Amino acid sequence: KKRNPGQPEFVQAVQEVAEDIFDFIADKEPYHRWQILRRIAEPDRVVSFRVCWQDDKGDIRVQRGWRVQNNNAIGPYKGGIRFHPSVTEGTLKFLAFEQTFKNALTGLPMGGGKGGSNFNPKGKSDAEVMRFCQSFMTELYRHIGADIDVPAGDIGVGGREIGYMFGQYKRITGEFTGVLTGKGLEYGGSLIRTEATGYGAVYFLQNMLTHVGNSVEGKRAVISGSGNVATHAAEKIVQLGGKVLTLSDSEGFIHDPDGITQEKIDWVKNLKNKKRGRISEYVTEFTGATFHGGGARPWSVPCDVALPCATQNELVGSEAETLVKNGCIAVSEGANMPTDLDGVHVFKKAGILYAPGKAANAGGVAVSGLEMSQNSARIAWKEDELQKLLKDIMMGIHNRCAEYGGKAGSSHIDYVRGANIAGFKKVADAMLAYGVV
Ligand code: NDP
Repeated sequence: KKRNPGQPEFVQAVQEVAEDIFDFIADKEPYHRWQILRRIAEPDRVVSFRVCWQDDKGDIRVQRGWRVQNNNAIGPYKGGIRFHPSVTEGTLKFLAFEQTFKNALTGLPMGGGKGGSNFNPKGKSDAEVMRFCQSFMTELYRHIGADIDVPAGDIGVGGREIGYMFGQYKRITGEFTGVLTGKGLEYGGSLIRTEATGYGAVYFLQNMLTHVGNSVEGKRAVISGSGNVATHAAEKIVQLGGKVLTLSDSEGFIHDPDGITQEKIDWVKNLKNKKRGRISEYVTEFTGATFHGGGARPWSVPCDVALPCATQNELVGSEAETLVKNGCIAVSEGANMPTDLDGVHVFKKAGILYAPGKAANAGGVAVSGLEMSQNSARIAWKEDELQKLLKDIMMGIHNRCAEYGGKAGSSHIDYVRGANIAGFKKVADAMLAYGVV
């Protein structure tokens, strides 16, 4: 806390990892507790810069941009860019730290990074978003590269924003390289990248349920968020025979007791991506559904499985207790650190199946890694190959978590512990191989 004042989310993320790896390390060779964790918990560098852009009225606006390059021990820095008014250096440091472990868990050669700005894309015209993205990249370009640091999308950064940023990078450098992932299919993007995080979170859920002889079929799912991750998680739940009851945004949640079908999910995707509307509009389109405003979250709706897919700390201890009390048997995190530390302790104590974001939402960055491979080889893989690779990678992550999160004589897996230790071990071993760096 003293080293990182005013960065509570970063401290929270490091504390959660430390809780699990301290007894694993236990001061025995080759690790020494603080020596190695401190090195991973101190970003290689944090770049902060001014982003100046002109709005439609001609006024000059000034925002702050950052790129946190946390660790490149096992590959180029890799992690998304977030545009949201809540973004601070501490938010991005927590995300880059988490990303380091997540990327290691995928088994692909990617280090951890994250970037973004306190820019709010909501309510801005396309032209304003384009001018902001171009200005952001005009500074960022000097810090990134296909073998150095490869950003992608995150909250507030989807296909439109990646297109504007990639176009600006290409314009400045004259290079066409795989410097960003999440690109359009016309210019080097990979099939299934858009779907990968949400689908992956449900594959992980399915793997956990299979491990205990259960499945997604027939399960009632409560999902938060209504962006990229939430809508694709909903889609995969429906495909596997489950029933989705809720979606949300920062204004509140909708509850549809009849189930949010594929047709309704397509309507939400159009609402969010094209019309840039609010989830409350759902109830004017579909009868039987209710909207709960004032920033309400969906965790009080009885369910079998829960998928938090909006943002950090959106599920606190008391809400975790409500989920458990209502009979929820599994939680798979599509978002990054959506459950606060109290909530994590509730899930662990209750012994339900609980997959932390760094394991469950790694499908997105995994397919980003596959996009990097396709760009380097200048080829495009087919959809069925990529679908299979995504499923295999999620299974691999599940098995790595099981290896380090299992206990002798018990079938219970502590996925948080497993993910933390497996991710840590790979990065720490690489760092130790480099000597004191
Ligand atoms: P989107 O911008 O597409 O959607 C974000 C959703 O979360 C929106 O519904 C948004 O509502 C809601 N939300 C954002 N901030 C808040 C808040 N403070 N309180 C309540 N609701 C909020 O982002 P993504 O779907 O891409 O990302 C969602 C989560 O998944 C994030 O934690 C992200 O880091 C994580 N993630 C994303 C990956 C990806 O591939 N996209 C990969 C791995 C993790 P509103 O419109 O009102 O802001």
